[in-house]
Formats: sequence, C-alpha cells, structure tokens
Amino acid sequence: MEVTPNPSDVQTLHEAEKRFRSAFDASGIGMALLTLDLRFMQVNPALTRLLGWTAEELLHGEGVSAISHPDDMAARWTSFAELLAGEADSYYRADRRYLHADGHVIWGATTLTLIRDDDGQPLYAMGQLEDITARKHAEQRAERRAAQQSAVVRLSQVALEEQDFGSLADATVATITDILDVSVAALARCGSGAAPLQHVSGATGSDVAGRGAASLDERHALLTLDAGEPVIVCDSSAEARFDAGGLAARGLASGVTVRVAGEGHEPFGVLGMYAARARAFDEDDIAFLRSVANVLTGAVRRLAAERGMRHQALHDPLTHLPNRALLLDRLRHGLARGRREGRWLAVLHLDVDDFKNVNDAFGHAAGDDLLRELAPRLSEALRPSDTLARFSGDEFAIVCDGLDDATESATIAQRLLRVVERPFEVAGVEVQATASIGIALAEPGAAAGAEELLRDADVAVHRAKAGGHGTYEIFDERMRAETLERVALTKDLRRAIEDGGLRLVYQPIVSFHDRRVVGVEALTRWTHPDWGDVPPDRFIPLAEQHGLIGALGRWVLHEALDQLVRWERAGLARPDLTVSVNVSRVQLGSAALGDEVLAALSLRELAPNRLIVEVTESAVMDDPETARATLAALHQRGVRLALDDFGVGQSSLACLLELPLDVLKLDRGFITSLATSRESAAIVRAVADMARTLRFPVVAEGIETAAQEQVVEALGCDLGQGFLYARPVDPEALPAVVADLDAALGRPAARAA
Ligand code: C2E
Ligand code: CA
Ligand code: CA
Repeated sequence: MEVTPNPSDVQTLHEAEKRFRSAFDASGIGMALLTLDLRFMQVNPALTRLLGWTAEELLHGEGVSAISHPDDMAARWTSFAELLAGEADSYYRADRRYLHADGHVIWGATTLTLIRDDDGQPLYAMGQLEDITARKHAEQRAERRAAQQSAVVRLSQVALEEQDFGSLADATVATITDILDVSVAALARCGSGAAPLQHVSGATGSDVAGRGAASLDERHALLTLDAGEPVIVCDSSAEARFDAGGLAARGLASGVTVRVAGEGHEPFGVLGMYAARARAFDEDDIAFLRSVANVLTGAVRRLAAERGMRHQALHDPLTHLPNRALLLDRLRHGLARGRREGRWLAVLHLDVDDFKNVNDAFGHAAGDDLLRELAPRLSEALRPSDTLARFSGDEFAIVCDGLDDATESATIAQRLLRVVERPFEVAGVEVQATASIGIALAEPGAAAGAEELLRDADVAVHRAKAGGHGTYEIFDERMRAETLERVALTKDLRRAIEDGGLRLVYQPIVSFHDRRVVGVEALTRWTHPDWGDVPPDRFIPLAEQHGLIGALGRWVLHEALDQLVRWERAGLARPDLTVSVNVSRVQLGSAALGDEVLAALSLRELAPNRLIVEVTESAVMDDPETARATLAALHQRGVRLALDDFGVGQSSLACLLELPLDVLKLDRGFITSLATSRESAAIVRAVADMARTLRFPVVAEGIETAAQEQVVEALGCDLGQGFLYARPVDPEALPAVVADLDAALGRPAARAA
C-alpha cells in the first residue's frame, strides 16, 4: 500500500494513522483495506482468525475472490460495481458466504465502504466482516423446520381426504424428496411369507432422476422393522449392521428408514430416504420423516375404520354376506353392464322352506347356525362374479350377470337347491332342509329396474313355495299381470272394508239326526265395481298379507251377530240356531281376539253358544301357543270352536287332542272323492269314529249329491253342509230356504224321489 502524504501535514497524519492502526488491529470485527479490484492491502488479526488464513496468505493471494463462496461471487461484483458507479452511497451491507482455510463455509455480515479523495474519486475500500454463521444456521434451520412443518400439515390434509392410499403414498414420497436434501424416498408395506415387504411408492429427487428404482433397500428396511427405531446410515461403505452392498450398487451412500405403524399392533411398513453422498442426518430430518410416517399411520387407520364402517353398513352381521343395500348397488351396476354388453341378468330369491320349524324345534341359535353353514355352501355353488346377499331371516338373494341365456339361471337354481339339500348339523342333530327359489330375469337391452326385479323374484319364490318344496319358479308375464292386479285389488279391498262394500251370505248346516237346519255359516262376499264378484279364496289371503284381515274379521263378526239378532226379532230363526264365522290365522295370533268376540256377544245379549268360530288346523299350527290360549279363553266362556278343513293338514290328530274343540269339519275334498277313492271312505269313517270317541260332532262339507249324503251319514258323520241343501244365500232369502229345507228333511222319502 502506497499513500503519498501532504508534506505539511505529515505529523498530524502520522498521529491519525497510528490511532487508526491500533483501532484496526484491536477490533473484534474482521477488517481489511482493499484495492479497487478487491485485493487485500491490509488485514487485521480478527479477520485472519475468522478466515483461518494468515495475513501473509491474504495479502499475497487472489484477494476477495479467493475466499468468497463461488455462489456469491457474481452478487459481490455487482454490488461493488454499483458502489463504484454510485454517487450518494459510499457503502453497502450484505450477508455473504466465505470459505474458511479448512474448506468450511462461514457466513459473514459484510460492510464495504468506499474511501474517496477530495475530488470524490474512489481511492480504496474498507471491508468489515462479522461472523454470523451461527445465527445464519439457526435461521436456516428455523426456515427448514417451518417448511417441514407446513409440508406435514399439507400432507395431513391430503391424508384426511384422500380415499386412495396409493395416491397419498405418492404425495408422501414426493414431499420428502422436495423438502429434504435427499435423492430417493420410498414406502414399502409389510407383506407375508416369501415377500415380507411390498413396494408401495417411491420418488427420486432431481439429483438422481432416472438412476433406477426409487425403492427401499430390503435389508435396510427389514432391519428397521426389527429395530423399531429409525436406522440411520451415514456412510454405506462403513455400514456394519447390515449388508449395505445394495445401496452402494445404486450409488446411494446414506439414508434413514423409520417404521410406519399400522391399524393394529402389526406395523404397516417402512418409510425411508437416501442420499447419493455420505452425510449425517440431523434430528430435524429424522423428526420430519417420523412425522410423515405418523401421517401415513393416521391415514391407514382412518381408511381401515372407514372400510370397517362401510363393511358394516353393507353386510349382514351373521353371515358377513352383502346385505340388501349392497346387493341393490351391485344389481344396478350389473343391469347397466348387461345393457352395454347385451347379456342376460338373473336375480334369484332363495328362501329356506319351513325354516321356522328349525327355530321352533332347536332354538334361534341353532337356526343361526344353519344359516351360517348355508351361506358358504351357496357361495360355492356360484361363480366368483355373482353376488350372494342375505336379506333377512332365511331369505337370500343372488345376482348373476353376464349370462348367455335364460336357461343358465335355471341351472344355477338347481345347483343351489342341491347344496341346500345336503344335511346340516344343527345342535348336534342332522337336519335336512330344502329351499324354494324365485327367479326374475332381465333380458339383454331390457330397461328393468333393480327394485322391480327383486320384487318379481319375490313373487316367483312365493309361487315356487305354493307349488311345493325344493323347487324354483321363473317370474313371467302372467305373474307380472297378477302382481299389478293384486296391488290394485288390495287398494279397492281396503276401501270396501271401510265403506261397507262387503256383504255376508249364509249357508245352512243340517243335522242328519234331527233332520233339520241347526246352524248357518257366514261367508263373505265382495262384488268389485269393475270386476264383479271376487272369490274369498282370492281376497282373504290379500287381506291377510296386507294387514286388512283384522278389520275384515271384526266386520264379519259384528255383521253375522247383528243378522242373527235381526232374524230373531223378526221371528225367523229358531232360538238355538247357530251362526259360524271363519277366523283367519292372522286373527288367531292376536291375544285380543277372545275379548273382542265375547264383547261382541254380550253387546247383543247373545248366549256364547250361538256362535261357532271356525279355524283351520294350519292357522292354529302357525303359532300353536298363542292360538291355543286364545281358543281356550273362548271355549271356557262357552263359544264353540270348529276345526275347519279337517284332514288337509299334517298335524290333525295332535290338534284334535290338544285343542278345546266342539265341532270337526271334514274337508270337502274327502266328500268329493268318495265315489272314486276307497281311501277317502276309510278316512271319513276313521275320523267319524274318533270324533265319536271324543264326543264331538263331525260336519261333512261340500255335499252335492244325495249319494254323498247317504255315504257320509252311513260312515258316521253327524252334520252336513253343501249345495245339495243350499248354496250360500243372502240373509233376506235365508229364512225361506231354511223353512223349505226343514220341511224337505222331514220327508226323506219324498226328497229322495
Ligand atoms: P270354508 O270356510 O271351507 O267355506 C266353505 C266353502 O265351501 C265356501 O266357499 C262355500 O261356498 C263352499 N261350498 C259349500 N258347499 C259346497 C259344495 O257343495 N260344493 C262346493 N264346490 N263348494 C261348496 P266360499 O264362500 O267361496 O269360501 C271359501 C273360503 O274362503 C272359505 O272356506 C273360508 O276359508 C274363506 N272365507 C270365506 N269367508 C270368510 C270370512 O269371512 N273370513 C275368513 N277368515 N275366511 C272366509
Ligand atoms: Ca268355514
Ligand atoms: Ca271348510
């Protein structure tokens, strides 16, 4: 450094220079005087300490460029050029990076001041350098942390909403390579057996893009699963815990893996990251990786919980089969596919025959066992693409799509029926079951609705059951028409019951012994405004199925008793004439029936024995406990009970012995077949003998000819009813009919003629 002093001021200048010099040397801040091309003219000890270079090395070296971080060089020259060109500012400040003599980077708060001569021409520069490395690092770390935290928050958001775990995994590994200074990030999940780990997702950072699979090193990952702790590899060439050859082969020198917890105790898998160079990972990096792993665990658990909830909402808890909702969904999709692909689709409704008997005989738990055993059998008989669902109780439904033709559905139905017929082991007992199946078909291109098909299959299964056990029935146009008609008819029936659209007719019952009419049976008639007379065999079952039978039965009871009172007041009925009313199975199930009947009698001051309640044995057998209790209550109060259609059911004898009966009505079928079947005659005789032993009368129903009358009387029947005597007639006509009959019966010879 060469300065030319003004000769007159030499002394003063010398003093000033000495003062400056000692301040310069003593300063704790690194200081230097620099030429205008930024070479060192003078440096203080603080600067040499800071940079690790000696004063000699600095003064004879390349100047500032030699100690400047290469990335900062351009900025440095630009700032200096601006300073030189500028007029106002004589200094600038900036945070710059410097290279320490040992190679590490130092951050320095730099101030560069331009010293000018009296004319304002730059002479040299003075630089000041304060070491702010520690502060800078702290700032950078805080920034990195903030970036990591917001990345975790962003990922958590994705994890909360994403339904597809794969997409979340992709976003996760990409975030790791974005946020951390690593080359590869990857996620693997625990597998089983020969493949203990399965790759889920991987990402590569820009520095190694295209350098091979972005996946975890398997040995490294397995060690992580064992350890449970993060496994940090700073230098793969020095790794002793596992064979890190695989990492070295991929040009990866360092890495960290962490375990990802799963929904339960078992870990979900391993998350890891690798860098190409050997490096240490600080606690922030590892904390970040762990947070990301936690986010994944959260998503794994949420998705599992949602899966569980979806499963519960769409499956039957007993058999774990799809429920109605899921079947409907599959059915809708199947119908759409069938329309596109031009294939047939079939809905099968399977119902176990007499399942109630299993529950009654062995208890509900045994019934459940049977259903649980049945479900996998049905599955076996189906193709994997078919959907088997349990609706309720013993009702199953099956959707088979992609069928080539309609006959295929029948083949499937037969297969299903066969697997049901294999014996079941229920409560330690071997049980034989059968099922009925109703099939509804959607032909290619048909616009059938899902609900509609289910309804049709249901109609068909009822038809199958009516035709016998262990069979199937395919829904057809006839059934469709019937269904529509039934819906309309039910609506009209409801109105008829409410608006007095029904009436009663009466059919006499005659005594062979007394040779006169002893009672009448009330039979309901309905004349539909459009369709004319609807037979009771049609509308009574409708009323039973649609909850109308209670109201209908009540009306019949009151109307029949009112009529009896009307005949009596008019002097048209003998005081011991009985009236019989039919009581349906559904009414028998109601405990209130007994009270209702008795109240109806006492309201009219009629003796209970004027009324005969007719019930069928199958109605009683539906719910024997309740029926028996109801009937016993009536019988005790003097109401008479008739067992109707006797002989058609299977449990007749048991009924006879256990029920408080007064009359037995032998089914019309026996009387009709008397002429052709010797068996019928034998049955009629046996029943009559038995009834005599038990001391109650037998009515032979449906006597149409004098020949039949002679036979049943000879076989021991006590009473008769049938067209031979009278058809059911209107109440106004009845007294005359009865009078004529009584007269005719008193003259047997004349009538026979
Ligand atoms: P049911 O109780 O066995 O009634 C006797 C049925 O046989 C009546 O048919 C009657 O008209 C018919 N019948 C009587 N004698 C002869 C004969 O010599 N030959 C032939 N072929 N048939 C004869 P209806 O009135 O059509 O009733 C049919 C069934 O409907 C009844 O059978 C009964 O089960 C039911 N039903 C009728 N009215 C009512 C009612 O008010 N309530 C209930 N719950 N069921 C009723
Ligand atoms: Ca009857
Ligand atoms: Ca009958």
